[in-house]
Amino acid sequence: MAKIFCVANQKGGVGKTTTTVNLSAGLAKVGQRVLMIDLDPQGNATMGSGVDKRALKLTVYDVLLESATIAGARVRSDRLIEAGCAYDVLGANRELAGAEVELVEVDRRERRLKEALAKVASDYDFVLIDCPPSLSMLTLNGLCAAHGVIVPMQCEYFALEGLSDLVNTIKQVHANLNKDLEIIGLLRVMFDPRITLQQQVSDQLKAHFAEKVFNTVIPRNVRLAEAPSYGLPGVAFDPSARGSQAFIEFANEMVDRIGGMKRQAA
Ligand code: ADP
Ligand code: MG
Repeated sequence: MAKIFCVANQKGGVGKTTTTVNLSAGLAKVGQRVLMIDLDPQGNATMGSGVDKRALKLTVYDVLLESATIAGARVRSDRLIEAGCAYDVLGANRELAGAEVELVEVDRRERRLKEALAKVASDYDFVLIDCPPSLSMLTLNGLCAAHGVIVPMQCEYFALEGLSDLVNTIKQVHANLNKDLEIIGLLRVMFDPRITLQQQVSDQLKAHFAEKVFNTVIPRNVRLAEAPSYGLPGVAFDPSARGSQAFIEFANEMVDRIGGMKRQAA
């Protein structure tokens, strides 16, 4: 059965989408069956996975409103197949912005994604959900469906402050809606070791959160930033780039951690 993870942080521009698409590609590359769900109306994770959001007939919007199933709406990019790191995509586009309002009227509104995922969970090893930069009904659907949250963060001065809001939200969802939910780990992204402040914040993170901080560190790397304009994750666009190598390492770390969870459960 799939392990389901949200990539979340209510701040924008912290590297959520970059993490989601590159971890998806990295996991696919090391032999995992992956579904990537784009829960952001901007559709960046969709485009960054080689899927044209404007050409999609069915998206996560139709799944949330129960006019489509995930099996009927998922797609796969030929370019990712060629690159040897293909994963399924449940895409998003601007239409999804309307779901926020439309879901207010319906029952089980925060459980729609969870229920839809239950029908395809056996098709995958990992499901990764790219969340929008807010703690909205869309993010709530992601958090309800997930076993864990991956939090990408830049090692900057206000990083820890922003984290406490997210930690509180996760605690509330854990208490009221989803007993499985936990923070799997904090991922240090866009890291530049030459900047003393980043080293200091990184040390603080490890002191506060100990083993919840992933060992892998994602460096600031221009190839990761260039890849989306070619409609590919960095891991597919330039596998030898330092940033891409770091995401392959992160994929292996995830497999090791989750493998550990599976063994504990057995
Ligand atoms: P979010 O989804 O949280 O808004 P993005 O993943 O879109 O954040 O990243 C914000 C910007 O930073 C994008 O332009 C992206 O290409 C760039 N970026 C993300 N990670 C890196 C990295 N490791 N090195 C360089 N640029 C990065
Ligand atoms: Mg994003």
